[in-house]
Amino acid sequence: MCSCFVRLLVHVSNTALSLRDLIVDGAWNLSGLYTMLPSSIVEALLSLSPSLDAHLLDAWVWSPNRAGVYTAATAYQWLLQQRGLVVTGGDWQWLWKIRASEKVRVLIWFILHDALQVNSVRFRCHLAASPQCSRCSHPVEDVLHCLRDCLHSHEIWLHLQAFGWPQFNVSEVVTWIQSQVRGPHSTLFVSALWGLWRCWNERVLGEAKWTLHYTYSWIWNEEKEYDQYLAKSQERILGPLQIDRWKPPASAFVSLTIDGAYDHTQRRMGMGGVVRDQHGVWQFGFCAGMLEGDPLAAELSALRLQECASMFMDIHLLLARQWDIRLRHISREANGPADCLTGYGASQQCAFTYFDNPSDIVVPLLSQDVLTL
Ligand SMILES: [Zn+2]
Repeated sequence: MCSCFVRLLVHVSNTALSLRDLIVDGAWNLSGLYTMLPSSIVEALLSLSPSLDAHLLDAWVWSPNRAGVYTAATAYQWLLQQRGLVVTGGDWQWLWKIRASEKVRVLIWFILHDALQVNSVRFRCHLAASPQCSRCSHPVEDVLHCLRDCLHSHEIWLHLQAFGWPQFNVSEVVTWIQSQVRGPHSTLFVSALWGLWRCWNERVLGEAKWTLHYTYSWIWNEEKEYDQYLAKSQERILGPLQIDRWKPPASAFVSLTIDGAYDHTQRRMGMGGVVRDQHGVWQFGFCAGMLEGDPLAAELSALRLQECASMFMDIHLLLARQWDIRLRHISREANGPADCLTGYGASQQCAFTYFDNPSDIVVPLLSQDVLTL
């Protein structure tokens, strides 16, 4: 309601008071208020026309957030606005998604905000007598000089053969960082970035003097450990690598596996399906190709194709029939025969082909499914 800062002592009898107690018939009734409010606040309150929804309970609402919920981000923006500072923002989502540890992400965040304490920044903050590089006496030690161009850093990157990497030699630091963390050597790059920053700290501010050889070995070791860490994280999220296989249906049931595909370059859809019994024995198969369409239409058409074979009428009718039907999404590895027929249908542009017996192209895939049962 008010953006001014007022520290109030709330009267003990008002601690459980809610807005609903002070608003009667759409108007303020402050007679139940024993807390001494400054006249400016009372005037501000009375200038508002209160409106209450009888169906909603009183609740704390954080107005800087349109959802009414307090978040650190909206609080930070609100505080900046109170100080008259412009919220420049910027899209930093990409930074927090890069394949790097949290410490490296924070390091990069400092770099991108021109806040990494290299000598030019320390000089600006009156923490250093000069912006000069203390290692090679270059007039200005900015981020690019410290982490890439200074003799010691340059030597390390040279050993890593980084100067041949795409956009490694750009003169703008944000482009340099973005291109490398998204590039083909991202793991090595972030390991080297962290290693070189540690090296700078040890050599300039610390006691230990990292040699060129030690820094180089440290970076390679860091990259190796980092690769292992990423592999473990992925396994923790996705579970151990498992190859999906075709699973036969229960006795007296049949398995229908279908697939659809869309070739963007040829603008062509392909559909295919295979029906097998619990022993993996072929019952029948089908495929078709069609011009135009899209990937979703291709997948759906793979089901509806069977209408042409007078087996099914419509997907909804199919599911509504009085039978026991179970739908399951399977990976491409477990759907080899249908995937193969789909590709065949797309390449032939055939309207519809029905297979009483398996064609030669799917026989090896059917055998593989049976062998892995
Ligand atoms: Zn230097």
